[in-house]
Amino acid sequence: MSVREILQIGHPILSAPAKKVEIDKIATPEVQSWIDDMIDTMRDANGAGIAANQIGIPYRLFIIEVGNNPRYPYKPTVPLTIVINPVIEFLTDETFASNEGCLSVPQMRATVDRHVEIRASYYDRDGIHQSQEIRGYSACTWQHEHDHLDGILFPNRVTDMQSFCSWSVFQQYQQPAFAKMVLELVQKWGA
Ligand code: ZN
Repeated sequence: MSVREILQIGHPILSAPAKKVEIDKIATPEVQSWIDDMIDTMRDANGAGIAANQIGIPYRLFIIEVGNNPRYPYKPTVPLTIVINPVIEFLTDETFASNEGCLSVPQMRATVDRHVEIRASYYDRDGIHQSQEIRGYSACTWQHEHDHLDGILFPNRVTDMQSFCSWSVFQQYQQPAFAKMVLELVQKWGA
């Protein structure tokens, strides 16, 4: 287990679609060590999630975990979830203007439209197939991580270029209003 270097925007691995993990390889020490490294790297960086290709592993695998995160104080908590070969389906057309950052995009944040009701089908680290409906703000995080597997970083999805801002400007001027929007979403959906 180790904390790995997080690749930064512009790196070719980040902009390429990732490959499927072979299901019978999930139990191998190699794939299990990828997962352990992703957990260590995400926690070390106070991330809310990380995709395998962010640490140079070009496979369709991401993890999400939100505790009491100083980087994202407004996020509802999410237990550690390991997501392999996910398929995401939008359940409704309702979207939320999600202001996002990324461990691979230093300093910058911007607003991206995300669906608030999704269904995710995936394999967990035990190789068990899971199907889960996710609603509310957490659904935004799932879509952000899933985009990584298709080589898409959040700046690719920004439609309002005026929404780009630095983390410090966001915290100073925009975080209170955004946290209120997130709270309303969380109160509506419970997540
Ligand atoms: Zn990201």
